[in-house]
Amino acid sequence: MSVAVFGSLNMDLVVRVPRMPEAGETLTGRSFLTNPGGKGANQAVACARQGARVAMVGRVGDDAFGAELRSALAVQGVDASGVLETPGVSTGVAAILVDDGAQNCISVVPGANGQVAEADADAMRLAGTKLLLLQLEVPMAAVLRAAQVARAAGCQVLLNPAPAQALPEALWPLVDILVLNEIEAKLLGGLADVHAGNAAEAAAQLSARGPRDVIVTLGAEGAVWFADGKSRHFPAPQVRAVDTTAAGDTFIGALAALLVEGATMDRAVEHAIRAAAIAVTRVGAQASMPTRAEVLTRS
Ligand code: AMP
Repeated sequence: MSVAVFGSLNMDLVVRVPRMPEAGETLTGRSFLTNPGGKGANQAVACARQGARVAMVGRVGDDAFGAELRSALAVQGVDASGVLETPGVSTGVAAILVDDGAQNCISVVPGANGQVAEADADAMRLAGTKLLLLQLEVPMAAVLRAAQVARAAGCQVLLNPAPAQALPEALWPLVDILVLNEIEAKLLGGLADVHAGNAAEAAAQLSARGPRDVIVTLGAEGAVWFADGKSRHFPAPQVRAVDTTAAGDTFIGALAALLVEGATMDRAVEHAIRAAAIAVTRVGAQASMPTRAEVLTRS
């Protein structure tokens, strides 16, 4: 059985600068890098690195970045045949300036991600797919339709409601597994704050709206899982974190890989926590994601 991801693909354009330029100023940068990103593609790669069969569904523009993103997925063993091209629109990009103090300024252009439509959800081929991963970097109407199509096909739905935004009422009962960080839990739960001390309570409240399993990730404090009236806290291993970019995406991809193998949720969460703890010790998004062998040898 395999995993499908319906979501975003971006090319991150990273410029290192000594300091942030002022309006109207031209500043010589130190270096330039392009990195494949987007929450959808990140989760697909994280999942494939844990040994799962993964197919990505999404959109890129008819430009060089689009072609690069598709081949980058293929190199990772992700089936990118469901990544379609929208002519006349740019591929999604994130223009990122990082200064010597590690502060960043980011502008994300959704481009083709914004063109992902309900018809793309209808066209998904889900035979043999056990779990569909959704995030919120493509239009909400398409996300909702994808959840409906998955449920109709007998496929489980995992939603990562990121970037944080309110969900349509119709989406809640279609979600089997909700995985979110403290900020997203705070927004969706309408709470003043979510932290390790009250994450179980927040998860219980979110579960009451539909998802059977709710996992709140808590950075260095690990994660809390709530299901069937019970909660469990999973601590994270102590590591020297250098870059937490895509920690959540690594967690979700690894969780999904274990779940489609038939692992229990306890074991899947433990594995996901170990994978994410490795990712935060390395720089980058997809570049920081560990393989299955690395997770197993480090635990
Ligand atoms: P977050 O999105 O920050 O909640 O992180 C997602 C997951 O990554 C967490 O549930 C942890 O498993 C892992 N993680 C994030 N930051 C750290 C850290 N500083 N040390 C160890 N694990 C971490």
